[in-house]
Amino acid sequence: MDYSDDDGMLDIESGEDNLYGDDVDPGFAEEDNDNDSASQLSYVILKEEDIHEHQRTDIEQVSTVLSISQAESIALLLHYQWSTSKVEDEWFTDEERVRKTVGIVKEPVVDLNHTNIICGICFESYFQKDIATVSCGHPYCMTCWTGYITAKITGGPGCLMVTCPEPSCSAVVGNGLL
Ligand SMILES: [Zn+2]
Ligand SMILES: [Zn+2]
Repeated sequence: MDYSDDDGMLDIESGEDNLYGDDVDPGFAEEDNDNDSASQLSYVILKEEDIHEHQRTDIEQVSTVLSISQAESIALLLHYQWSTSKVEDEWFTDEERVRKTVGIVKEPVVDLNHTNIICGICFESYFQKDIATVSCGHPYCMTCWTGYITAKITGGPGCLMVTCPEPSCSAVVGNGLL
């Protein structure tokens, strides 16, 4: 049996091919084996682009059905292991609780209708265009956001679920700032 890059193994990032050593048995990755063998697949192995396509479809669906942003949909899907049915079940059972758990706020808790906005981290004054917020509306300047998110990313996988820098705020920071 040949171990090649085209056999459907998920290769998340290049350079990880040898993660499990070179002597790994590639048999489980073959989908076109004759079915009379005892080792029939109980799952489907997806190519990376298939996974991205599935993710896009799921994000689109959740965002449409729940009327929330794509960034918020991603946060929900991450929380519920990419199960759209679980997301929708939980949401329509107790939207309030899900919003609280995942950090999806209904409306901004901060009103930004002034010309000068104080960044919550460096306390400098900024024009609205130089400020970014997530759904809660807590304002931070671009420099502080960049520093905050960079620190989170350096901190490891927890960066998938970054929340607003305001300690008392649980609003999730998705893949898009407002
Ligand atoms: Zn700042
Ligand atoms: Zn906040």
